Amino acid sequence: MTDQKRPKAEANDISKLLNQVFGTDRFPVPVEDVALEYSQQRFRDAPIAKVQGEDLDSFDGMLAANKKRDKWMILYNSAVSSEGRKRFTVAHEFGHYLLHRHQQEEFACGAGDIETSGEGKGSRDIEKEADDFATTLLMPLDDFRRQVDGETVSFDLLGHCADRYGVSLTAAAIRWLEIAPKRAVLVASRDDHMLWASSNEAAFKSGAFFATRKNTIELPRSALAHSRNCTGRPQSHNTRAKVWFPREPAEMPITEMTKVAGNYGYTLTLLVMPEAEKRWRRRDEDEEPVEDSYDRFISRGQKPY
Ligand SMILES: [Zn+2]
Repeated sequence: MTDQKRPKAEANDISKLLNQVFGTDRFPVPVEDVALEYSQQRFRDAPIAKVQGEDLDSFDGMLAANKKRDKWMILYNSAVSSEGRKRFTVAHEFGHYLLHRHQQEEFACGAGDIETSGEGKGSRDIEKEADDFATTLLMPLDDFRRQVDGETVSFDLLGHCADRYGVSLTAAAIRWLEIAPKRAVLVASRDDHMLWASSNEAAFKSGAFFATRKNTIELPRSALAHSRNCTGRPQSHNTRAKVWFPREPAEMPITEMTKVAGNYGYTLTLLVMPEAEKRWRRRDEDEEPVEDSYDRFISRGQKPY
């Protein structure tokens, strides 16, 4: 059973409690203590008894029950040096505990399941749900909006958010996509190829997305993140949207920003575009929209010849 709203609702319930105890200016969330305390208070018969780092080899995080299933333990990979990734991993496993512990007695989550589960990797629903829980708990939207409202987006601004919430730049950037006022696309790349990409709803609906799950996609040669142009330092410029999305009108501008995400060994590119202009093909404001003959045939239900 999947209830899309439940991960966020569970996280918001905990945020309300934390607001009551610590006030609203209380970040980053001490997620280990919260997982221990909250589970012991609410689920005395099967609480989380331990959160600890361990050599997990190929996994980033685990949630496991003892034999009697009256105690649970969260493990995170101690080889991961980034505090931000650890915090997100613990929150993700805490999400599995609250949402899914009656389905399984062990959860082992790899790097592709955590933070970017919905963003182009093969994903099961429960991974997306655990991520939604973690994102909502660590970066409550009301506080996140207060950080970014009225500001021009940049990796500096997103870095400020990452610091405030104690999460990776990637996690903060994905959170920002949700509330981005324009069309926005986040691309992670290595060796001039996309690893994954995530579009906000407005971008996705206008066709501005990359199907990285199905295809190997190379970066445009003029992309700042391309090895021909990449200096390793954060960069930003304005260019034409067509460079990234060939179907965009020639006049459509795009702002492109890059930054190396050191914790992951990949480069992030953030693309920001104005809203799709449905009437872009009009010759001028007073004329009827220009409809080409292909569209006319299609709209009459005929095949073009
Ligand atoms: Zn997981």
